[in-house]
Order: sequence, then structure tokens, then C-alpha cells
Amino acid sequence: MGQEIIDMHIHFGAPENESNGCYWSAKFTETPAYYAMLALTKSLCKKVDFNRVQKQLLGVINGSRLTNKAVLLAMDQVYDEKGAVHREWTHLHTPNRFLIELAQSNPKVLVGASIHPYRRDWQEELDYCLENRAVLCKWIPSSQLIKPDSKLCVPLYKKLAQHHLPLLCHAGPEYAIPTSDDSYNKYNNPVYLRQALDLGVTVILAHCALPYFWLLDEEYKDDFEEFRRLFQEAEQHQWQLYADVSALATPTRIPYVDIILNEIPSDRLLYGSDYPIPISEFSYNKSKNLIFWLRFITRMIRIKNPLDKNYHLINEMGFADTVFENPQKLFARIQY
Ligand SMILES: [Zn+2]
Repeated sequence: MGQEIIDMHIHFGAPENESNGCYWSAKFTETPAYYAMLALTKSLCKKVDFNRVQKQLLGVINGSRLTNKAVLLAMDQVYDEKGAVHREWTHLHTPNRFLIELAQSNPKVLVGASIHPYRRDWQEELDYCLENRAVLCKWIPSSQLIKPDSKLCVPLYKKLAQHHLPLLCHAGPEYAIPTSDDSYNKYNNPVYLRQALDLGVTVILAHCALPYFWLLDEEYKDDFEEFRRLFQEAEQHQWQLYADVSALATPTRIPYVDIILNEIPSDRLLYGSDYPIPISEFSYNKSKNLIFWLRFITRMIRIKNPLDKNYHLINEMGFADTVFENPQKLFARIQY
């Protein structure tokens, strides 16, 4: 069997649905991510509806010619340090159980679980996700109010390491899912993941910890600098450190692509899109030839499937073929 191309970073967010437990908060409906979702599901003039969101997303995944499989990311609720759940602090919840059931009837869907490390039943939940072939555990520290350097995370880290289940952790500024406590924004800095790495966890830093709005993201500059430092130190510490190239196809990230291409080994980079975050034709391109570039953009504008478009854009940036194959290789190491 040839290598499968897996897009390992796709979000599922939907309005409240009593039968499967998904919900989002009123604050979420003020974000650009929410409006992007309305536009994609053609719901700008009407109430966005759960079935419409699900149908649109599955249509994109099943319609992609170049993506063999897609990892849909769950999002756990917020828990406090005593292990109590806080719906009032949660802005987006996509339960593991819902995605596991979705994956059972959609062969192209893989489950990216999300397990809050402070929940009292984290072990049961992780076992349940492993039994159902989840391929990673996803966190957004600022949105989920997680301190990745907390001692409370250690038991979960040990189990992730034991099973080789990767931790996909958001790094850098987060504009899609809000926080209920701004003091947690700093926990998106990958410096807080050193403890997980030292415990042998396979850590994937989402979108290379890049700033989104370039100079406007001044306060997140160190997130990216720390990302570079971690990769410089990775071999010496034998860390299982990876990063994904999701949400790279955007004009504001053009200045960073050369650094990633030059500094990060291609066997440590994983292919992903961050869909439904918008994908732009006007992103980094290795070609220095203006005519070639314009022709390429024209070709890209005609591609309707956003996952196929993202594939071509990332490929054209000059990333090695292995980057597209790495998610499958990494997931093959998971011990269920
Ligand atoms: Zn994301």
C-alpha cells in the first residue's frame, strides 16, 4: 500500500445540539472564525444549523482528491484545577464521543481527541479514545485554561508517552476560540511544553507557533523564537518533537516560511490545513518568477476544494514529499 496523505488538522465546531453534545458560546459567535464558518456554510442570512455545518465539512473531506484521510479535532470543555467542569468558561465544545461516532460512518475521518488534563476521569476518557483509534490528543491552552507545565498534567503525559499518542498543542496567538481568562494566553508559548517533552511525549506544535498578524502579534514573537530554540535542542534531548504546517497558506505568514524550510528537518513536519480557517492563494511561493507565480495563482483560484488547494499551496512552497506522508508514519507508531 502506498503512503496515504492525511490532513492532520481540521476543526469541527457546531452550534448546540442536544443529541451529540456539541456547543459554542455567545462569545464565540463574535469571532472571525464564526463568520468564516457562516460564509462557508452559506448561512450568513439565516441561523447556522448543525446539519449544515456537518454536511459542508464532510462534503469537503469526501470531495478532496488529494487528501486520503482527515483528522477532525475534538475540543474538550474547560476544567478547573480541582477537576470541576465549567461550561460557562467553555467557548467551543466538540465531544470525543461525537467524533468517534462520526468516524465510524465516514471512512475518511480520523479522530483527533481532546482530553483536558485536569478532569478527574481523564484516564477513562483517554482509554475510551484509544480503544476507538484516536490518532492524537488536541489542546488549546488559552481556550481550555490549561497550564502545560503544571504537575497536574504529569499522569496524562506519562500515559500519552506510553502509548505514543501525540499531543497536538496549539502554539502562538489564538484568534479562533476565545479564552475566559486572558492570563492563560501566555500558556500558548511552547516553552511550557518542555515538561511534556522531557517525559517522552510526542509533541506536535500547531502551525509552527507562528504569529498570525506578523508585527501586530508582537507579544507572541517569543512563541516562535522558543519554537526555534526547541528544535535546536531537540536532538540533544532526544525529544519527540514535531510541528504542523497548518494555516501556513496565508499572506501574513509569508515572512516565516523560509525559516521553517531552512531550520526544521522535513521528517519533523506534518501536513495539515487548519480548515475551516481561510486558505489563501496569495501565500508564500518559492518561485521568484512573477509570470509563473501569476499563472499558479490563476490555477489555484480555479480549484474549488479547499483541502486540494491547500495541498497545492504547501507543495508549491517547497516542502519535501515526506511532509505529506509523515502524519501516516507518526500515527502508525501509536500503541493501542
Ligand atoms: Zn487549529
